[in-house]
Amino acid sequence: RTAVVLLTRDLRVHDNPALAAACTADRTVPLYVLDPKLTGLSPNRTRFLHQSLADLREQLRNRGGDLVVREGDPVTETIRAARDTGAETITLAADVSGYARRRENRLHDECARHRIALDLHPGVTVVPPGAVRPGGGGESYKVFTPYFRSWSAAPWRAQAPAPQRVTLPDGLTPGALPGLPAGESPHACEGGETAARRRLTTWLRQDLQGYAEAHDDLPGDGTSRLSPYLRWGCLSPLALAEAARDQGADAFVRQLCWRDFYYQVTRVFPNLATEALRTTADRDWRYDDDALQHWKDGLTGVPVVDAGMRQLREEGWMHNRARLITAAFLTRHLGIDWRLGVAWFSRWLLDGDVPNNSGNWQWTAGTGNDTRPYRRFNPIRQALRFDPEGVYVRRYVPELKGIDGAAVHQPWRLPESEFRGLDYPGPLESHRDEAVWLR
Ligand code: FAD
Repeated sequence: RTAVVLLTRDLRVHDNPALAAACTADRTVPLYVLDPKLTGLSPNRTRFLHQSLADLREQLRNRGGDLVVREGDPVTETIRAARDTGAETITLAADVSGYARRRENRLHDECARHRIALDLHPGVTVVPPGAVRPGGGGESYKVFTPYFRSWSAAPWRAQAPAPQRVTLPDGLTPGALPGLPAGESPHACEGGETAARRRLTTWLRQDLQGYAEAHDDLPGDGTSRLSPYLRWGCLSPLALAEAARDQGADAFVRQLCWRDFYYQVTRVFPNLATEALRTTADRDWRYDDDALQHWKDGLTGVPVVDAGMRQLREEGWMHNRARLITAAFLTRHLGIDWRLGVAWFSRWLLDGDVPNNSGNWQWTAGTGNDTRPYRRFNPIRQALRFDPEGVYVRRYVPELKGIDGAAVHQPWRLPESEFRGLDYPGPLESHRDEAVWLR
């Protein structure tokens, strides 16, 4: 028997149910199809993807197999690989975005036409999207807390064993991986399961226990930074959740539930990136190119906002607290359409994906389907609370390095001559009227 596994965002050998199932056949084709429709959306993520593919290839070679790489339409190439090798089965990790669902549906039709079995497997989330549903016939939970309650009570599947041996069909050419593309962020972390497991080991040993206390501390950087690895499936979310639960790290497990939460929302609302969940709150957004550009460039004149936006560009990642502050600033303060924020984050974030990026943006913008749509974030109060000494700001906004302590959060309060000497903008014209916020 021969099976093809179409790998998409499950780029790992450990606890990969679709790969493990395909490896129960006599011969396995671990296939990745480079999809031109997805390349170029984010140079950072493309680079991370290629690093992850190179690492996966290495893992599979160590097990006697290889990663088969093709380029083109994933459905066409997968069916071609199955037909060329006489495979009876194709396995795939089920996914939720509109694009992934269309791909899956087309694959389903083509498999039926060619009399090939298509087996869908879990693996992208801890609890499969749709596995827990609200009472009363609802398709997805709208509010996190009741979802968390059901999610916590749901049984978790057993982890899939990493394949010991992978045997490719005879005569199959694996295909070359193109050279490593350049990313945009100089300090982006490295992709791949090996790097993910290294980071995971350190995290579990050294930092997990402090998470509940430290996760909101901007300069302390006390979060796992595992999100890019979860995004690409270099790390199994279930294996991570189990490891954390075993250590009693409830606060961390709860965050992993947030990730699952947005997947189950996306399963029902696949157009989350463009369509508001609460259309009544999708109000008269402003389209102010100048203010938007200042926000993107980290030059709004509000230091904590600018620090977050610069961290995004430098690292392809941003601290969650800074994501909240910068997103609220764009939507609540400047009144700019949240979709423009989604698009900018999506270009830079290594962990950028439809459910978490759009879900969190909608939550912040008030268009989400939760119960508190009118959240406001005062950036200065946030800064004083989560970066009390200004360390985070000085790390990313070198123009303000010379200002000690918390004064760095409100440079406009410095004596005029000092402020002028800073080479740092005053608060944006467009929100100066609201400057009452900033006092
Ligand atoms: P940790 O604090 O170590 O948390 C562990 C894991 O839990 C994370 O890796 C992540 O998978 C999950 N998690 C934590 N917080 C959230 C959350 N609020 N929502 C969903 N999952 C969460 N996360 C993404 O993975 N991709 C995105 O595109 C994304 N865009 C965001 C946009 C905005 C405007 C906001 C406010 C948040 C966004 N987040 C996104 C959620 C969160 O900021 C990141 O998951 C987190 O900062 C990643 O860092 P970490 O791995 O160190 O997180």
